[in-house]
Amino acid sequence: MKFQQPQLPYFPYALEPVISATTIEYHYGKHEKAYIDNLNRIIKDTDYEEMPLERIIVESTGPLFNNASQAWNHIFYFFQFNPDGLKAPGGKLAEKIDEQFGSFEEFQRQFEEAGASLFGSGWVWLVNNDEGELGIIKGSNAENPLTRGLNPILTFDVWEHAYYLDYHNRRADYLHRLWDIVDWSVIESRYPF
Ligand code: MN
Repeated sequence: MKFQQPQLPYFPYALEPVISATTIEYHYGKHEKAYIDNLNRIIKDTDYEEMPLERIIVESTGPLFNNASQAWNHIFYFFQFNPDGLKAPGGKLAEKIDEQFGSFEEFQRQFEEAGASLFGSGWVWLVNNDEGELGIIKGSNAENPLTRGLNPILTFDVWEHAYYLDYHNRRADYLHRLWDIVDWSVIESRYPF
């Protein structure tokens, strides 16, 4: 299987001013494309060619894991945004967030704090386990919750390439602004309870 970079479901400028068209051009157009190109190069003529991307992530290490996971993480990240999306969760996910974090606002605060305090490059995630319990976890570099048997629901990219063009060193500002473009109808669809 040769993996292809899906076209984004919005124009490059659609997320401005939260994420600029220039950041989309570099972050999705160059960084994400490079991960997919590297992934395809590494799996060529190996057994991994026939595997779904999620299985490659769980079964690989080293450069293959790094490129496979980054390829997946970025699609997961960019496809959760929509400037006209649902601004807060509803249904079972909203109930669970209230139950575990006290309120949606408190959940957002803890999520931002996890991202702001991650040392170096990585990702902050909202995940659920098999019982539907939620958790905020963070991981360095290309880490992915799938390798811990957890289901990812939401992620913020905290590599500098995600925010440096628009926010320079102000990572906390970038994390706080992302809520304006998260489409909670997408996030809810990823919570299987
Ligand atoms: Mn990135």
